[in-house]
Amino acid sequence: MTEETLYRILLWGFILSAVGTLPILLFITAPYGRHTRKGWGPQINATVGWVVMESPSVLAMLACFVVGSQSWNAGGIALLCLWMLHYVNRTYVFPFRRRGGSNKMPLFIAASAFTFTSINGYLQGRHLFTLSGGYGAEWLLDPRFICGAALFLFGWGVNLQSDAILRNLRKPGEKGYKIPTGGLFRYISAPNYFGEILEWTGWAIATWSLPGVAFAFWTFANLAPRALSNHRWYRETFPDYPTNRKALIPGLF
Ligand code: NDP
Repeated sequence: MTEETLYRILLWGFILSAVGTLPILLFITAPYGRHTRKGWGPQINATVGWVVMESPSVLAMLACFVVGSQSWNAGGIALLCLWMLHYVNRTYVFPFRRRGGSNKMPLFIAASAFTFTSINGYLQGRHLFTLSGGYGAEWLLDPRFICGAALFLFGWGVNLQSDAILRNLRKPGEKGYKIPTGGLFRYISAPNYFGEILEWTGWAIATWSLPGVAFAFWTFANLAPRALSNHRWYRETFPDYPTNRKALIPGLF
């Protein structure tokens, strides 16, 4: 079997598993953070969990760049920079800045996410630097790249700002939850997820690729149900929670 055939099987398996995961997550909220509960097996340190489970996003992409046959093209390198802009923060900065004491996450969550980021890193990286035939300098002037990169950067800004607002709700070492305010929290309960979904939608457009669309859909399948759970949790937990705030998409739901 050629690598192209294997790649295609993996990609379609990845897409089908996102389609299957979305309805499951509408009924079963992933048991980490505020939704942590017993009965999900052994727990590990959450900071370690975040670094380990996100690392393949950086390492698999770099490996695909190193071994790629079309790596040294300006368009591909620009896309690599967008990817790293997000993932260096998510993997090696964000986990150490989180506040809330030494909280735990189920090993099962870290292992599932590790599998996901390994497959996704391979699918995105192999496409970018080999199977696409390469993204040359002319891609930088293509409207799909320009619009996609602009949406990615906008989403990245929203995600960073929202993560920072959440982080600053707690003083170092403090635990517990408060009502977040400011930024897009004025309109929705999960602007960090909204920003993340915009980012990977921008990535799908900027790469104009099926693996890009697959990742954007996976992000939505993961985060839209969680945004709904968080929104419900806020309303049940805080009697004074703003009633005009939606869950994920300003003005819609
Ligand atoms: P959350 O919004 O649940 O939590 C983010 C951080 O803020 C945690 O440290 C959390 O503490 C803290 N926090 C959240 N709400 C409050 C509050 N009301 N008061 C005080 N502290 C609060 O986000 P996730 O942990 O689910 O995700 C983190 C990042 O990872 C996000 O930017 C998200 O977009 C991204 N992500 C991306 C995925 C993808 O598929 N691409 C999948 C999952 C996450 P605690 O941990 O104690 O709850």
